[in-house]
Amino acid sequence: MLTTKINGNAYDVALENFDAAADALALDNDTREAIKYPERVLTVSLPVRMDDGRIHRFEGYRVQHSMVRGPAKGGIRYHPQVTLDEVKALATWMTWKCAVVNIPFGGAKGGITCDPKHMSQGELERMTRRYTSAILPMIGPKQDIPAPDVYTNAQTMAWVMDTYSATKGYPVPGVVTGKPISLGGSLGRSEATGRGVFYTIQSACEHLHRELKGSTVAVQGFGNVGSITAQMLHEAGARVIAVSDSTGCVYNPHGLNIPALMHLKDLTGRVEGFPEAENIRHADLLAMDCDVLVPAALENAIHSDNAAAVRARIVAEAANGPVTPAADRVLESMGVFLIPDILCNAGGVTVSYFEWVQDEQHLFWEAQDVYRRLERVMTIAFRDVLKLHEERNVPMRIAANMLGVGRVAEAVHLRGIYP
Ligand code: NAD
Repeated sequence: MLTTKINGNAYDVALENFDAAADALALDNDTREAIKYPERVLTVSLPVRMDDGRIHRFEGYRVQHSMVRGPAKGGIRYHPQVTLDEVKALATWMTWKCAVVNIPFGGAKGGITCDPKHMSQGELERMTRRYTSAILPMIGPKQDIPAPDVYTNAQTMAWVMDTYSATKGYPVPGVVTGKPISLGGSLGRSEATGRGVFYTIQSACEHLHRELKGSTVAVQGFGNVGSITAQMLHEAGARVIAVSDSTGCVYNPHGLNIPALMHLKDLTGRVEGFPEAENIRHADLLAMDCDVLVPAALENAIHSDNAAAVRARIVAEAANGPVTPAADRVLESMGVFLIPDILCNAGGVTVSYFEWVQDEQHLFWEAQDVYRRLERVMTIAFRDVLKLHEERNVPMRIAANMLGVGRVAEAVHLRGIYP
């Protein structure tokens, strides 16, 4: 999204990733046709009364890419640059991601083209409720379960859950995940994606015989995922030397005090202005001399024009689609170890699955149970992807897609094609 003009759109990238995996699996044409494209695509028009009394029309989307392995699952994104193609790409990646961590979900995604930073809470609530009612026939705990994504959060999920429940006439907590704990959310969900990213970085360090403690890290994006990843790396003794958000980048070669930076971000909404740090350019962060680079913002951050400048040994894709296929080839040729997005950030959907299980059972787990199960799922998924990477001699990205696509292909073979 950041550099769409240079690298093509995210959906083209998703299709290219699929083709590479399908080729490596020698998948037949019929199976490719059956699993490659979204099953359902909905565009909705959302008239919303703004605080000044005027009606503003927003456009929203919900895409269900696959329900072959279970109900569709995927977040809702609010951003000015949301497009249908972006939502289709994100839904496609969700399908392979759920299969990589072997949870019984397919893939979906939703989004509204809007500028949430310039909307009041009241406007956001009215837009969210109108969007929920527009996509209502598609969602439900057995059908399609939304969750937070960029610029949506637990409050957004509470509004979705309330709107859905109001139309049903009874509470349906399992219609969304990432809810507040008091409404049936899971302990450990809000930090799950960052925690999962951390576990995969830990596994990568073990595999490469590198010490995590004392290693240097740069994190692009300091929202939910980037900040928790930075916090866990900081707690594990890594030195987080550079961090950015959409407004700026801060750098300290001795390591940033991450809890203090999180406090500043909470207070001011930005990382810039952090004491004991110098401001640097966005491009400098991606080219930072460090052990681990964590792109945790949006798609296409590392592309054909800047990939050669990357100096990190490990790139951990906390965001979805932050490295383009052209950049993949450059990083591969430089010997960078890539932890691909559908593995790296799968902790979020894994704990969403745990939340859904708890809601369905009306029985809730302790935080330590959630963390223990999450670590196990992420470690097994990393091991499975690494095995394919080594045995088939393919890049980590292709190995992860092979694992995900292969599991969906197996399910479609067993189910057969209706009618
Ligand atoms: P968020 O809205 O909490 O944070 C996004 C952050 O990125 C913000 O700090 C924003 O300022 C920053 N940002 C935006 N543009 C930037 C730029 N050009 N340079 C630097 N920073 C920039 O969103 P999030 O939930 O943390 O999601 C981040 C990424 O992780 C997205 O790609 C999302 O799809 C992916 N992801 C999120 C989850 C989850 O559970 N939240 C799960 C899986 C994947």
